Amino acid sequence: MAQKIKKLMPRVVFVRLASLYQRMEDAYNVVAGEIGLSCRDCPDNCCNSFFRHHTRVEWAYFWQGLNECSMDLRRKIIDKANDYVHKINSSKTQGNDPLFMCPVNFDGRCVLYGHRLMICRLHGVPSAHTTPRGQILNFPGCFRCRERTESMDSPPRVDRTGFYHELARLEQSYVGPKIVKMSKVNLTLAEMIVQGPPLTGSGRKEEHAAGLRV
Ligand code: SF4
Ligand code: SF4
Repeated sequence: MAQKIKKLMPRVVFVRLASLYQRMEDAYNVVAGEIGLSCRDCPDNCCNSFFRHHTRVEWAYFWQGLNECSMDLRRKIIDKANDYVHKINSSKTQGNDPLFMCPVNFDGRCVLYGHRLMICRLHGVPSAHTTPRGQILNFPGCFRCRERTESMDSPPRVDRTGFYHELARLEQSYVGPKIVKMSKVNLTLAEMIVQGPPLTGSGRKEEHAAGLRV
């Protein structure tokens, strides 16, 4: 029998998400250490990669971080996000691959590092994910990582499977039973910024009570 979906207070879910993020970071650091991968002096900056994100809970937690910024910084990030969305839309119409710097990156540095989303935490090192059908999907890591691992027979990797499952459970706890009727999230971070905090089907009043404001 399918388990009943129970909605929890946003602050409770956010504490659990922060713990999950920390465990992702720990797993990343172990593998990066074994490979000898460091972002220091990297000639690339993968914050210009085209990432899409898929959960309202990460979206809302990111907005919590955004709301903790000074008004001036928040305004600058929102302006950069609007610019990013505009550039992505016009590059799509021209058929180009979108490669623009994330609006949260200032002078090569992420200014909302503690609230960055899952993919920002796992990109870089080799990792794998086992789908519900048992298919194993492998991710080789960034270009610098691939240079370091090409001579290794079996490079160490982060297993994303448990992390994905836990994030899916947190998404259910954040959104609640209405999740089954809601559309899927498939947005860039810039779009998440431009659209404001996510609604969970409970209306703006509840979102504001959770401390999220546009
Ligand atoms: S994850 Fe890889 S590509 Fe990105 S900054 Fe670090 S070393 Fe460079
Ligand atoms: S949120 Fe931060 S870490 Fe992620 S792409 Fe943007 S600047 Fe980089």
